[in-house]
Amino acid sequence: MLSCPVWQQSHTQALTMCGRARLIANGAAEEDLAESAQACILCGSCEPLCPRGMDTQRATLSLRQQLVKRGLLQVIGTHHRSRQTGQVRSEALFLPGQTLRDHKPVLEQCERLLGNRVLCAADDGTDICHDLECGTEIDDKRLEDFLAPLRDAREIIASDGMMVNFLSTLLGPKVRVRGLGQALLESAQVRRGIKRTDLYIIETRTFNGRRGELVMQYESLRQKTGCFMNLDLHRVATPTGAMSAQYRMNHQALVSVEAQIKWLLEGRSAERIVVEHLEDGAAFRKHTSLPVVHLAEVAEP
Ligand code: SF4
Repeated sequence: MLSCPVWQQSHTQALTMCGRARLIANGAAEEDLAESAQACILCGSCEPLCPRGMDTQRATLSLRQQLVKRGLLQVIGTHHRSRQTGQVRSEALFLPGQTLRDHKPVLEQCERLLGNRVLCAADDGTDICHDLECGTEIDDKRLEDFLAPLRDAREIIASDGMMVNFLSTLLGPKVRVRGLGQALLESAQVRRGIKRTDLYIIETRTFNGRRGELVMQYESLRQKTGCFMNLDLHRVATPTGAMSAQYRMNHQALVSVEAQIKWLLEGRSAERIVVEHLEDGAAFRKHTSLPVVHLAEVAEP
């Protein structure tokens, strides 16, 4: 519970995953959980610390879905359907997401670092991720069209943590699904570019969902470079909150992104912010005067 940004900002146990689990154990009805389900930003910070080993992100998604279906939860917002412009088929596919597509030089740098073998997918499935996060029904035909080229791939790299977790569950162990940060950190050029005075912001949904697998990779990077990271004492990644549907859709939110950023900077004399996801970068630009770069941009020759 202590790692939860909703707890840190509201100090209301009932609004945390821990509170939801306790309410259920005490016989609460689904409708009693609506406010709590809405408050969650799905950062996954509670998942690595759950004493019962619950898949907390998935539990909240499924609760939201039930509540929306019964009309007990307000939908956070609708997302325009992604425009499909054909399909790209390859053994290795990259789903950059709309924000990265809107920043062409950064996208091109990501593609250079990932290498020729990895092709950029035509469809990011951003609308599917949004439906999933908001608890609205995903259209079967749309989902099948999106998944068709991905089923042939052996490797998928996605910048959206929600998509990484969703595809890992859906496609099973035959397809290696990774976050963009994890993939870019394989490049020595990128690792060399991280400085001691950087605050490195890990994309939390992917990291917290598979912390056991990733923690040593990040810990060794932190030790080698001496940089600051958004990891707490339990090595759980702390979110800015900028990835949440509430923030992206300008919806009423309990978690203030500005307060999260203030907290992340506290006691850290960072001179530059390095982000794995551009949404986090935009939030730092809005609330601080520090220079912000995407992980791909730090690569040294
Ligand atoms: S996913 Fe994040 S916001 Fe939601 S309950 Fe867990 S820690 Fe709190």
